[in-house]
Amino acid sequence: MNRRTRREGSSGLRLALACAMALAIGAPIAGDAGRALAESAPEAPAPEVPAQPVEPVEYDVVFDVGIVPSEKSAHVRIDLSPAGGKVVRWIRFSFDPLRYRAIEASGKLEEVEGGMLWTPPERGGFLRYVFDIDHLRGDRTYDSRCAKKWAILRGEDLVPRTRISTADGATSKSVLRLRLPEGWSAAVPYESVGRGRYALDNERTNFDRPGGWFAFGKLGVLRERISGTQIAVAGPAGQGVRRMDLLAMLKWTLPSVKEVFGELPDRLQLVVAGDPMWRGGLSGPNSLYLHAGLPLIASDGSSAPLHEIMHTIMHARSGDGGQWIVEGIAEYYSIALLRRSGTITARRYQRAIDGVRKRAQPESASLSTPMNGALRARAVLLMMEVDDLVRDATAGAKSLDDVVRSLRSADDVVTPEHFRRTVARVAGRDLDAFFDRLRR
Ligand SMILES: [Zn+2]
Repeated sequence: MNRRTRREGSSGLRLALACAMALAIGAPIAGDAGRALAESAPEAPAPEVPAQPVEPVEYDVVFDVGIVPSEKSAHVRIDLSPAGGKVVRWIRFSFDPLRYRAIEASGKLEEVEGGMLWTPPERGGFLRYVFDIDHLRGDRTYDSRCAKKWAILRGEDLVPRTRISTADGATSKSVLRLRLPEGWSAAVPYESVGRGRYALDNERTNFDRPGGWFAFGKLGVLRERISGTQIAVAGPAGQGVRRMDLLAMLKWTLPSVKEVFGELPDRLQLVVAGDPMWRGGLSGPNSLYLHAGLPLIASDGSSAPLHEIMHTIMHARSGDGGQWIVEGIAEYYSIALLRRSGTITARRYQRAIDGVRKRAQPESASLSTPMNGALRARAVLLMMEVDDLVRDATAGAKSLDDVVRSLRSADDVVTPEHFRRTVARVAGRDLDAFFDRLRR
């Protein structure tokens, strides 16, 4: 996980910003059936490889979630339809015993290393458990929290990572159903399909489970369509969440973000809260979390909201040694997008970059050390250098934007080697001198 610490002159807060795309997207989630089978299918012989393309089979799954503030918990029930019972052989849930309890299911439930293995009945069935919402990230600050009047948590914690073995071509049609206390409302980054129900759709997986940043309770929520994206800025009422400021910033910067990626997700939800929530920013699928005390633009010229938006839209996870790449891109664009959108002047942009140069770690230092301000600053400079090199190699036809777009669509973990190959493909030639220098 990427972590940053910064000191805010204006607020006096020492704010940490972590970029947790790795957690948010997770390792290959709900999996491809073949891989899961190869791994550990109990009593399930690997099927013959079919000669014909397999007809897709959809089966219904309902994730029923009740929030119980008096217990600071969520009661979760996963219902698998009869059609699902026929095609799902087993699902393995990575239950952490510290956060999930009272796990019960119809069919067979066995404890396995790192979780529970559920073999549902052939007619379909249920698995239910209690999820303890509160989770500390710092000494006294939370990245998941249930208070009296609100709760903020990530969907991928509510239902932990799974692996699944199904018949070929089987894919879930998942729905999230929320049961909230009287007077509470919900903000989730999904399309509402009526009466507290939301369609969970993730093209990357064949077992769609909840994901992204959720807010429940007495909320203030602003919704608006900007650059074709349905934006929601949500936060507990009465916590000084500056929803209008954030919305205004998105209004004038999202068009520039769209120019980088060529397209934006259908929806983007910003969940914002004050203490005792964690004093930083965290990205997730189609959503992000920000502490209410973070400025929109810091005194060093970078922007926490834009930094997290870059992570969210790239959905890039860093692989071995690739953290500086993912962080460098997010941080570079958090400054560059302010310039491109006309939010800051060329002079102020130059000042921000001068500051980055002053803070950057020396060239002799390793890029694989844990993320800190100096490494992040150096990574920004390296991204600027890649931008120049790609522009030179293509006579201005391509830039770092094309590299970022390519990294996004690759849906792969970002490693130095992967980055090097992507840059070479975009530039039309190897940039060996640059990458060899980094290895030293
Ligand atoms: Zn980051």
